[in-house]
Amino acid sequence: MKNNFVQEFEKYNWEKIVNQIQSKKDLDIKEALFSSKVNSNNFMSLLSPTANNYVEEIAQKAKKITRQRFGNTVSLYIPLYLSNLCSNVCTYCGFSANNKIKRKFLTTKEIIKECKTIKKLGFEKILLVSGEHEKKVGMNYFRKNIPLIRNNFSTLTIEFQPLYTENYKELKKIGVDGVLIYQETYDYKSYLKHHLKGKKKDFFFRLAALERVGESKISNMGLGVLLGLSENWRADCYLMAMHLLFLKKKYWRSNFSVSFPRIQPCVGGIKSSNFINDQELFQLICAFRLFFPDVEFSLSTRESSFFRDKLIPVAINSISAYSKTYPGGYSKEENKEKKEKKLKQFETKDVRTPKEIEKTLKKLGLNPIWKDWDSYLGRTL
Ligand code: SF4
Repeated sequence: MKNNFVQEFEKYNWEKIVNQIQSKKDLDIKEALFSSKVNSNNFMSLLSPTANNYVEEIAQKAKKITRQRFGNTVSLYIPLYLSNLCSNVCTYCGFSANNKIKRKFLTTKEIIKECKTIKKLGFEKILLVSGEHEKKVGMNYFRKNIPLIRNNFSTLTIEFQPLYTENYKELKKIGVDGVLIYQETYDYKSYLKHHLKGKKKDFFFRLAALERVGESKISNMGLGVLLGLSENWRADCYLMAMHLLFLKKKYWRSNFSVSFPRIQPCVGGIKSSNFINDQELFQLICAFRLFFPDVEFSLSTRESSFFRDKLIPVAINSISAYSKTYPGGYSKEENKEKKEKKLKQFETKDVRTPKEIEKTLKKLGLNPIWKDWDSYLGRTL
């Protein structure tokens, strides 16, 4: 194993991975299904187009593993969008700098209002999200506002621009428990095609970011690719799995999560060049469960209530609910929300209230978990 994933990444050849996955036959899938410990070759088989004929069998195994490792629990979290300002141009995102939308970042007063509304909904786990804008929503903004938000919630995760190790160390001190950094795609050529301007163009700075998080001793890290961005989601997800394996070995005391977002419509956004359908997404997430029995898998409100209700009991153990994907979304009145439509990063499909989601989870035999951590107990790392 190389010392860092940027070096390790050099050994992978995109075309070769595409061909290897494509060449898997029925016998390879059966071997993967019968193995007691899925290895990376088995995982490739489970991701393959041939394995799409075995989704039922893969799902049955995934469900058993999920129940063994997580019991009947499903955690609930809510994203809080702090800002839609962004200095990058990404072809697939409503916040892209070249989109002429109303820009906004929340003031401290507005943040407090949002927190109060979210608390009333029952959430204890919060994910802070912002576009990437160093000047207005950078470290100074985080220093000022994160401690206030921290006071209201038991778990706080961030999804911001990739930062430096010193920054993450400082954020840990003011209460950040976890960091999500989605590579979007591990195909270098596609990455350059879709990240046209700004700091996000630097593929390798992003690729190394979770190791900077690991060095800071923030113990929860999240990975993801934007499904449908590259020409081959299977190869993309194989490389994400290799990244996760690397991080798990290097930061063996940390916790990891994976998200599986599909491209959704947004203002000025592109259409997916390699759309992944429902059955394929089901296959993908169940394949991940067989390869990573202990990792948290998260499913957002990008997906429909119908699809979420089918997949959650099989392989998911963390979900968002009632998400508003624009700054100030929770404290706005309904009529204002319509006017603010264009501020959104993307459209959500599951619009059920937290109470409705809680009721559905219970009907499915699952226990909704609103809080799994008491911050007064301190952190272990
Ligand atoms: S994906 Fe992120 S970096 Fe790119 S435009 Fe959207 S908010 Fe900005």
